[in-house]
Order: sequence, then structure tokens, then C-alpha cells
Amino acid sequence: MPPAYNTSHTFALEADAADALASLKQQFHFPKYQQQDVIYFCGNSLGLQPKNTAAAFETELSTWRGLAVEGYFKGQHPWLHFTDHLTPALGKLTGAQPHEITVMNALTVNLHLMMQSFYKPSGSRYKIMMEAGAFPSDQYAVETQVKQYGYHPADAIIEIAPREGEKTLHEADILAAIAQHGASLALVLFGGIQYYTGQLLPIQSITAAARKAGAVAGWDLAHVTGNVPVQLHNWDVDFAVWCSYKYLNSGPGAAGGVFVHEKHAASIDTPRLGGWWGNDEATRFKMEKGFIPKTNAGGWNLSTTQVFNMVALKASLEIFEQTSIEAIREKSIRLTGYLEYLLQQSPALRCNIITPADPAQRGAQLSLFFPENGRLIHNQLTDSGIVADYREPGVIRLAPAPLYCSFSDVHRFYTTLQKTLA
Ligand SMILES: *Cc1c(COP(=O)(O)O)cnc(C)c1O
Repeated sequence: MPPAYNTSHTFALEADAADALASLKQQFHFPKYQQQDVIYFCGNSLGLQPKNTAAAFETELSTWRGLAVEGYFKGQHPWLHFTDHLTPALGKLTGAQPHEITVMNALTVNLHLMMQSFYKPSGSRYKIMMEAGAFPSDQYAVETQVKQYGYHPADAIIEIAPREGEKTLHEADILAAIAQHGASLALVLFGGIQYYTGQLLPIQSITAAARKAGAVAGWDLAHVTGNVPVQLHNWDVDFAVWCSYKYLNSGPGAAGGVFVHEKHAASIDTPRLGGWWGNDEATRFKMEKGFIPKTNAGGWNLSTTQVFNMVALKASLEIFEQTSIEAIREKSIRLTGYLEYLLQQSPALRCNIITPADPAQRGAQLSLFFPENGRLIHNQLTDSGIVADYREPGVIRLAPAPLYCSFSDVHRFYTTLQKTLA
């Protein structure tokens, strides 16, 4: 079998020519470096702006200008049901029914709201299991939740860490820990892709183990949604939350996404905090006493739809709708594999790729660990028109998001890197 990749420029040009998604790149704005588009490997932090975003804002501004309050009912996209434009496409990305999804607030707020509903410690079952070194906001959320119930975080939070000398987790270790702590677990809450290492966890098997142990299975999919296909409904995930500004390209502070499995969402008895926007629409405007939640994920909405925090998501999802998450994933596996190959041809870089080598255990991100000089190399890349990020301790994260990164971009990164190292 011929090797899958080689270092020639021709290889990159041919791979782009054969890429059915290549033209989607034209639908994004790129920051410039010396009059040229930068190579943008930071879509895991803030995705690029789609070119249709501005017009989408203008449509809603025009509705507001011309119709004012009537925009809720008579606009081109009536604001009263604005999320209906988002949930079908988000359902395809996450393997959920549209009614199992809502868009509101932002990730950390939604994580708290989901824990308020689904973290119900009682008796000896009160612990939360998560990965060690989780994204800080998730750590803070879990810490403050357990404290609300009077527990000590050191006792109530079980953190799963990599084995001695390793950076990523073993599925077997997680499953063994769930089995070991089963009777004390109220909630199992992992990040689907670990933000620092880029490791994609086996969401289906961890969910199954958590549920078998009698615990709730919740997921933070900040780095998963729009990156890797998942099957939240079929995998029986209880709840999931994500943000819209990473792989979903919806801009800073865009409203976040929430999945609540229909087995919970369909019941008005599932505990939650209420607000008028989560109330049944038939009675919402009667302004009467007595909260009757909608029997879908929208039953967790609190406040009036944040249209201007959602309009960029609507525009961005139109690009996803031009293809499929399966096709995006297929390109992504190849593109990330190509980046990995070229890094392996650059021994002078003196780094370890800590992201798993198995494509099934990663998305569109490689994390390079530098025992020394990581920050210096990151600065040099930035000065050469390559946008990546640096995370302490010692890691440069490269995310070739397949919607707007080409094989030629990855090759240009490689040649730039060779010059930098020389
Ligand atoms: C990006 C990210 C967040 C960010 O949360 P916000 O509330 O949107 O600021 C939280 N958790 C994880 C795992 C993330 O990757």
C-alpha cells in the first residue's frame, strides 16, 4: 500500500482538488497576514466568521427597525420561534431529535441549570465523577454545586487522572472507576473532547457504564459539537451542553446549546428552575400563576429568546446544512492525519504530540507538548501568520477545522515551520 501522505506541495494540491468540501472555505472571512489569509488553527477556541453572518444580522435589525414588537410574530423569522431555525440542524450534528435541543444562555450557565435538574444527591449517592484537569469553568461549576449541598469538593468530586507518566485517559480506567464507585455516584460528567489534550472520550460506553451504575450521564460537548458526530439520543445521554463559538463559528458569546433527552424533557415533573420562556406557549401570555413547562428541551428556557446572540448561529448552521457532519468528519480525519504526518517529518520541533494517534480518539485538534520553548515557538508561529494557541503548561494546540482549512494550508504551515526551525 502506498503511504497515505507525502511532504510534496503537489500532494496538498491534489488532496484539495479531490476534496468535496474545499469550496466551503470561500464562505468564511480570514484575518490577514501580509495581505494573505492567515492559516487559522484556532477554530477550537473561536471559529471564523461566516460571510453570511452580516446579512443575517441585517435581516433581524431590519425586522426590529421596521416592525419593532411585531417582529416576534411577523418578521421573516418570527422571534417567538427563532430557535426552531436552529434545532433541526443542531439535531443532525448531535444525533438528537430537534425537540431534545434548545439554545439559550451560554455553556457554564447551562451546565449549572442542567446540574440543578439532574444532580440530585441523596444519601450515599452524592458524588460527581469528572476528568482531572477539566476546563476550569467546569471545575468551578462542579465545585460550587457540591458545596451548595454541603459537601466537601475533595470528598464529593472524583477526578480521573491519566496514569503515571501519561497525558491521556484509558477507557478501561474510567469504566473501572465507575464500577468501583458506582453506588456513590450521582453524576458522571466528562468533557467529550478534553480541551488540553484533544482526547475524544468513548461517550457511548461511558454513558452506558454511568447509567448501569445508577448515575446520571452528562456531557460537556464544547469541543465536540460541529467537530465529531455523536448520537446523544440513541446513546441514552441524559443531558449535554456546548458552546456555539468554537467549531460552530457563531461568534464570541453566542448562545449555547443544550440537549435534554426526551425521557426527561417530556415530563413536566422533571425538576428545574422556571421562567416564562420555558412555560407552555398556550398559557405563557395569560400571565397567570403556576409554571407549566414545555414538554421539550425548551422547557428549560428562562428568558425571552436572545435573537442577536443566536442569529450568527443560524447563519453558520446554513453552512453545515450544505454538507453533513459525517462528510466533515471524514475530511477532518484525513486533514488532521496529514498535519500529524508532517509534524512527524519535523523532528527538530522537539515536541510530543499528546493527542491520541488513533483517529477514533480525537477530533480536529493536535496538542503539541513542548518540554521547553513552547511559548517561544508559539510566538514565532504567530509572527509568521499562523494562528494557533498556547495553553499552560507547554502546549500548542493546532486545530485544522475542516470547513475552512485546506490541505494546502497545512502544507504552508509545514513549510513555514521548516523555515522557523532553520
Ligand atoms: C470553551 C469551554 C467552556 C466555555 O464556557 P463558557 O460558559 O461558554 O464561557 C466550558 N467548558 C469547556 C470544556 C470548554 O471547552
